[in-house]
Amino acid sequence: MRRLMSAVVGGLCLLLVAACGGSGSGGDATTAGEKGTVGIAMPTKSSERWVKDGDNMVQQFKALGYDSDLQYAEDVVETQVSQVENMITKGVKVLVVAAVDGSALTDVLQQAADQKIPVIAYDRLLMKTPNVDYYATFDNFQVGVQQAGYIEEKLGLKDGKGPFNIELFAGSPDDNNTVFFFNGAMSVLQPYIDSGKLVVRSNQTKLDQVATLRWDGATAQSRMDNLLSANYTSDKIDAVLSPYDGISIGIISALKSVGYGSAGKPLPIITGQDAELASVKSIIAGEQTQTVYKDTRELAKVAASMADAVMQGKQPEVNNTDSYNNGVKTVPSFLLKPVSVDKDNYKQVLVDGGYYTEAQLNS
Ligand code: BGC
Repeated sequence: MRRLMSAVVGGLCLLLVAACGGSGSGGDATTAGEKGTVGIAMPTKSSERWVKDGDNMVQQFKALGYDSDLQYAEDVVETQVSQVENMITKGVKVLVVAAVDGSALTDVLQQAADQKIPVIAYDRLLMKTPNVDYYATFDNFQVGVQQAGYIEEKLGLKDGKGPFNIELFAGSPDDNNTVFFFNGAMSVLQPYIDSGKLVVRSNQTKLDQVATLRWDGATAQSRMDNLLSANYTSDKIDAVLSPYDGISIGIISALKSVGYGSAGKPLPIITGQDAELASVKSIIAGEQTQTVYKDTRELAKVAASMADAVMQGKQPEVNNTDSYNNGVKTVPSFLLKPVSVDKDNYKQVLVDGGYYTEAQLNS
C-alpha cells in the first residue's frame, strides 16, 4: 500500500513538478518558467557582488519566463565543473557561467556543445574553448584606467608632483579580467614609474609578481605585511593600486597594523572595485579611498537578454567584436561602463542610483 501511495504521489509529482518542490533545480533559487531552465554557475558567495549578480539574474530570467538553477562553487574549480556537468545532465536550455578559473571548463563546455546548449560567459571570459557564444561584461581595461587615473589625479601627477611611493596589486592570474585591469592601470602608471615620479620600492611591477590567487583578501594582506616590513620602515607609502574591494580591505588591515590611519600617519590612496558594502562604508569612514562601481543589475539584464535572444534564434545585441579573444576565438561581447566612486560622489551614484539605501551605508 505504501509503495502504491508513493507511486501515486510520484506520478502526481511528475505532473505537478513545482508543487512538489522540485523543479529540477536543487540549487539556491528556483522559479517557475515555461521556457525551461537556465543554468547559472557563479564563482563564490564570499564576495557580495556575485550574490547580487546571481539574485539579479534569477529575477531577470523569471521575468523572461525561465526557471533558474543557480549554483555557487565557493571558488573551488572541481565544484564548479561538477555543478555545470549536473546542469547539462538535467537538461538546462542555456548556460551562463562566471568561471572560478577561466581555463578549467574546456571539457565540460564541450559536453554542453555536444548537447547543443548555448553558453554565455558572465563577466569573466571563458578561455581556451570554442564553446562560448557571447560575453557580457564591463569595459575591463577602463576599470584599470579609472583606478590608476584616480591615483594620478589625487597625487597631482599630471601637475608634475612627486616622487611618490606606490605598491601594485593585481587580481587572480586565472581570471582573464586581471590582465585587462592591470594593463589598463599600467597604461596610466607606467610613464610615471619610468620617469621616477612613482617609485615602487619593492620593484614588484610585473603581473606575476603582484597577482593575488582567487582574489583573496588574506593573501593580499600578508603580501602587504611583507612589503611594508621590507620597504617602508623609514619611508611612507603614498598609494596602493588595488584591483578589488576584498583585496583593499586586506591591504588596509596590514597598513593599520603598522600605524597608518592615525594622526601624523594618514592612510595612502587605496583603490578598489565592485562597490561592496564594507568598502563603501570604509570610503565613507575615510579609509579606502576609491572603488569602481559596476552595476550588477545592468549586467544581469544584458546576460539574460543575450541568453533569451540566443534561445529564440536571434542575434543578441553586442558592442564589441574585437577585444576579447580567448585563445581559440574572439567572443562577441557587450561591455557596460564602469563608474569611479569615492566619498564625493557615492551618494549620487550609489544611493540615488538605488544600489544601496542611506540606511545600509550608515548602519
Ligand atoms: C570581476 C570583478 C571582481 C573580481 C573578484 C572579476 O572577474 O570582474 O568585478 O572584483 O572578479 O571577484
